[in-house]
Amino acid sequence: MWIFSSPRIVFGEDALNYLEELRGRRAFFVTDANMVRLGFVERVQKHLRAAGLESAVFADVEPEPSLQTVRRAAEQMAQYQPDWVIGLGGGSAMDAAKAAWLLYECPTADPAAINPMETYGLRQKARLVAIPTTSGTGSETTWATVLTDTDIGMKLSMGTHELTPDLAIVDPSLVTSMPPRITADTGMDVLTHAVEGYTSTMHNDFSDGLCLKATALVFQYLPRAYANGQDMEAREHMHNAASIAGLGFGNSMAALAHAMGHSLGAVFHVPHGRSVGLFLPYVIEFTANGGGTRYADIAKFLDLPAEDEAQGAASLVAAIRDLQRRIDFATSVQQLGVDREDFEAALPKLIANAEADNQLFFNARFANSEDLAKLFMCAYEGRSVDF
Ligand code: NAD
Repeated sequence: MWIFSSPRIVFGEDALNYLEELRGRRAFFVTDANMVRLGFVERVQKHLRAAGLESAVFADVEPEPSLQTVRRAAEQMAQYQPDWVIGLGGGSAMDAAKAAWLLYECPTADPAAINPMETYGLRQKARLVAIPTTSGTGSETTWATVLTDTDIGMKLSMGTHELTPDLAIVDPSLVTSMPPRITADTGMDVLTHAVEGYTSTMHNDFSDGLCLKATALVFQYLPRAYANGQDMEAREHMHNAASIAGLGFGNSMAALAHAMGHSLGAVFHVPHGRSVGLFLPYVIEFTANGGGTRYADIAKFLDLPAEDEAQGAASLVAAIRDLQRRIDFATSVQQLGVDREDFEAALPKLIANAEADNQLFFNARFANSEDLAKLFMCAYEGRSVDF
């Protein structure tokens, strides 16, 4: 048995207006300072006021949010007693909102151990609206939350189906302010979700089509959104692609590029999309070298040469490299400015982090410690994977 989870999704121009349909008394925002500065909190509050809701704002979420931040947000939420929680921002704000909401509903829970085996009994006090302002993580449609334990320098990917937001508002007017670098990083996150969601061992009939569609949308629209942030057609399709990829991988699983990306991100403070997107082509080569995979399906869907699995995987890697070039995306860890000595010294920690990440186990070819060491070094130097 497997469950397909999805929020109600309101998308397209003026999607924010749907907030006026909410019924309740008070809403609590979990967001970051940029959302206040950009006027997004005020825009959302205007719609909430029209629905008769008052609100309070926690705007202290940092990129790659920590357990400590989540605890602080939950304390303020408990004082305010909202019946709606609003996660407004990129994946960091939405994930922090999910975890803080869980603590508000279930104060005895350990946020570092949120897992699908436990029942938390959410929605006794409040429901969750997720409003993405990056086109990347898909957190608005997933049951996942990724937090960082800053004490041990490790990212924790956790989740429970109960955390799937009740409502996702996917309004493209919120993403035109994204600078090109964030557009590129978050766009590569979408592609990594879509490709890994399609090829992970948990792929299924319900998620496949979503992953393929999201992949095609990224190839078509990410270079345009990167080149011109005011290209509304490209922005809207990328925003949709992020939520679609979220539904795709959220209802299958992500895999090795995520395990490696989370590991690098926590140790060297690399933004999520930049690190998972960097590892994606290396992981495809490694996995395809192990035999049967599903990369040729993706290549065929993109009209790339794919006579057999090997050619399909090679075509897909070449297309990803070309996309990365068009959006000025780092293709090796060295290019990120990480010093070789520091990287080599951190290698045991990088491997241990990746091995502790549950997404490692959903890759179509298992990577043991030795494989991980070699993969990290290939990605550091920008060398193709030949094993
Ligand atoms: P982010 O939320 O960390 O935001 C990055 C920066 O962009 C922040 O400074 C933010 O203020 C700024 N920003 C956001 N929207 C903007 C806009 N419209 N205009 C200008 N600036 C804007 O970045 P992200 O990539 O969206 O999220 C990354 C986090 O999400 C990581 O912690 C990652 O692990 C997590 N994640 C979660 C899931 C999930 O399913 N829950 C999936 C993938 C990643």
